[in-house]
Amino acid sequence: MDTIFTRIIKGEISCVRVYEDEHTFAFMDIAPAARGHTLVISKEPYPQLTDVPADVLAAVAQTTKRVAQAIVLALHPDGFNIVQNNGSAAGQTVFHYHVHIIPRWQGDNALQHWPPGSSDAAELQELADQIRAQL
Ligand code: AMP
Repeated sequence: MDTIFTRIIKGEISCVRVYEDEHTFAFMDIAPAARGHTLVISKEPYPQLTDVPADVLAAVAQTTKRVAQAIVLALHPDGFNIVQNNGSAAGQTVFHYHVHIIPRWQGDNALQHWPPGSSDAAELQELADQIRAQL
């Protein structure tokens, strides 16, 4: 099923394009969290990170680095966030794998960092054991 991003790649919906190659496409986010907020997507519409084949993932990572470097040179932010949401509980709204590049300026409050949680050593060990068992 087509996502809004598939329709953008096909040219059925307009966008402000930044970069395109065989596997990836980058364009300006229509509702930017900060000036220069850019999206990098896979051309194939995989729903989320865990669905993306390794070669496509590598291609998206390379494009993300390339576009982030260009944003730094063009806009001179103090830093940038790479954000990648998976699942509606994590804030994903478009189910077509994509990476956000969000330029940041000191004190801009564009994104809130998560509040620090607390941890228990035994629980961390148990969680790590559960995760490792699935690798
Ligand atoms: P996510 O919440 O991680 O799924 O992010 C989806 C992003 O896509 C949001 O930041 C939206 O602002 C952006 N978006 C949705 N529709 C468009 C569009 N037509 N052109 C550009 N960005 C879009």
